[in-house]
Amino acid sequence: MVDVDLLVRSVLVPDAAPLADRAPSPDNPLAMSVQFVRGMGPKRAALFERLGVRTVEDLLLFAPRDYLERTAPISIIRVQPDRLVTVTGTVQQISFKTVGRGRTLLTIVVGDDTAVLKAVWFNQPFRAEHFHEGDRVVLCGKAALFGDALQMNSPDYEVLEPDAPAQFAEGIVAVYPATEGLTQNVIRKIVRECVERYGDALVDAVPESIRTRDGLVSLKQAVAHVHFPPAREAAQAARRRLKFDELFTIQLGLALRRRRIRTQTAAPIPVTAEIDARIRRLFGFTLTAAQERVIAEVRADLAEPRPMNRLLQGDVGSGKTVIAVYAMLAAVANQQQAAVMAPTAILAEQHFAAIERMLAHSRVRRALLVGGASAAKRRANLAAIAKGEVDIVVGTHAVIQKDVAFARLGAVVIDEQHKFGVAQRATLRKKGPAPHCLVMTATPIPRTLAMTAFGDLDLSVLDEMPPGRRPVQTWHVPREKTAEAFAFIRSEIKRGRQAYFVYPLIEEQAPFPPPPAPPRRPTSDPQRRPAPQPLFPRKAAGASQAETHDDADAAQKVLKSAEEMHRRLSSEIYPDLAIGLLHGRMSPEEKDRVMAGFRTRRLHVLVSTVVIEVGIDVPNATLMVIEHAERFGLAQLHQLRGRIGRGRYQGYCLLFADPSTDEARQRIAILTQTADGFRIAEEDLRLRGPGEFLGARQHGLTELRLASLIDDADLLRLARKEAFDLVVADPTLAAPDLAPLRAYLKAKLAPRPGLTPIG
Ligand code: ADP
Ligand code: MG
Repeated sequence: MVDVDLLVRSVLVPDAAPLADRAPSPDNPLAMSVQFVRGMGPKRAALFERLGVRTVEDLLLFAPRDYLERTAPISIIRVQPDRLVTVTGTVQQISFKTVGRGRTLLTIVVGDDTAVLKAVWFNQPFRAEHFHEGDRVVLCGKAALFGDALQMNSPDYEVLEPDAPAQFAEGIVAVYPATEGLTQNVIRKIVRECVERYGDALVDAVPESIRTRDGLVSLKQAVAHVHFPPAREAAQAARRRLKFDELFTIQLGLALRRRRIRTQTAAPIPVTAEIDARIRRLFGFTLTAAQERVIAEVRADLAEPRPMNRLLQGDVGSGKTVIAVYAMLAAVANQQQAAVMAPTAILAEQHFAAIERMLAHSRVRRALLVGGASAAKRRANLAAIAKGEVDIVVGTHAVIQKDVAFARLGAVVIDEQHKFGVAQRATLRKKGPAPHCLVMTATPIPRTLAMTAFGDLDLSVLDEMPPGRRPVQTWHVPREKTAEAFAFIRSEIKRGRQAYFVYPLIEEQAPFPPPPAPPRRPTSDPQRRPAPQPLFPRKAAGASQAETHDDADAAQKVLKSAEEMHRRLSSEIYPDLAIGLLHGRMSPEEKDRVMAGFRTRRLHVLVSTVVIEVGIDVPNATLMVIEHAERFGLAQLHQLRGRIGRGRYQGYCLLFADPSTDEARQRIAILTQTADGFRIAEEDLRLRGPGEFLGARQHGLTELRLASLIDDADLLRLARKEAFDLVVADPTLAAPDLAPLRAYLKAKLAPRPGLTPIG
């Protein structure tokens, strides 16, 4: 709920004034706390709150998780075996016994004027409390013949209130997400009360033209039918409408934000044929078709007098640097400055080195800005940048964002590597006149997720690897095969290759969300503060988020195991080889020294704890051992694997893993089967869900309660098209028939007085 508030607020606040008179009135029943609904009271209201239901509107939109079909009741004498039937009757007998080892059996005998029937439940002792002799009940299920007695196993049932009409139980009945202390009956009754009494207060925010075009039922009908559907199809149509609303709201927010970005101005960066040829000469290879396509997209963006706002996705090794360099040199050729920002100092240095190699003989003036430099050097650099005497600046996110003033910043490349920096985009945009902006990520994001989480950006995809790349061979190494694996690694090292041993946990970072105020361990590396939120929360590694207090312990253990592995490798397994250790608590100088040792091949093996530090390019390193691979997310493992197989030699990834769950086994299996990052991303989304996939809640995805990014892709496309078309046609949503939509967005903005805020 809160996420879309944020999204909409960030979109609408600057333009919100004209909407101000449309604030919902305080006595709007939809905004009323549910505790004032008849039959509710504070105790039940607290239970509903646990289900995320706080207002009458929440309750109206509180969709069932499933439906039961109940036929019209018949006399018990007419019940036939194996047919779905409904009967009503009176409870005549209740027996509850323990059968065998802790197994329980609850039996009730129900009779009407014509016959009796047994209903049984195994191992559900709590149900015994639901029945009392003399209660009138409805049972719905299939009966089977035991001897000559009819018996229903775990039927759906309802205990009727003494004066309740029997047909209450007929037809299609909603089943709600449950919480302890709230029975389905209570939920149904309160929902009915709410729909009958307050349903009319709902205002349909989706314009009729859109509803008609897309075959969407009205909001009132959707709410009535989602809870009390006259038929299965009605429930489906109702759900489709409610899902559409969720998706449409998010897409509308994105469309408005995109429009706002596009009303900013930027200096156009035209790329003439001559500039294009000059840039291409720097690349010592023919571009892939995918690179050509993306360059054309970027070129078109740069030529516009409004800022480029593009997300480039490409698997590790797909050649994103070419695109980044192209955009930056285009800016420089147009007398503009360009900057590239990397998430860590090591990656910034690597970008700088790549740019140095390409531009060695050019007159383009480059500067590297990282935390380690001396104060004097830094001051000199900053002054030169401010005076326009530097063309390309390479640095870390933190450094460039903090205090750098550019003379004329024309293009910015943000290398997100494997995290997603929505907040960073926002900060950056505040800096002076809007530069053209290219965000790069090495994590393939499934299309539907990208359209939702990054739907205000234009998307480019590098879906093709440079030629001659051999896909990394990936093996699962169970414990009993470790010796063989070590021998294989030795043989490859003897042939001149190098190996990584990785502990993929980031040992000095808190999982998301960060615990309130953890005493942060002092870190000697200023680049790492504030710690970026890891993309892959520990939860994916089998721990719950409630366990954050164990974090420091876990971190300690990771470091310990890396140190231990380093010791074992150097003293027992490969005493004749040179083994290096890299971890997050080393000083930048120490890290540099170790990295240099590995790059220059002085070290044969690099033991590393920190994922991001492995974002380095050493083509001769073709072997990677990932310890505890079962504990890490698919995308993360795929990322890591991308570090090898970058050069001429065959890469091998050895997953040391003892998966104990089906899900973990699936993850390992998928990795051994495919190297296609997008396929892996789809699987990852399927296994973990969108929130976990992105590892963050800032993307508005928690608003998706009914709609699924996996199953509702078509509806998502429809909602996106409608939202974007609407904003293009009417950028301020000024048309009279959009008044309810404006009011709806405005209501999303209003604080909810008297309710406990969450978030
Ligand atoms: P990414 O940043 O997407 O992980 P890089 O830009 O670092 O990938 O490219 C990976 C490697 O492939 C680099 O060594 C680069 O020089 C090389 N490369 C990029 N594009 C091509 C191409 N079209 N043909 C051959 N090699 C390429
Ligand atoms: Mg790269």
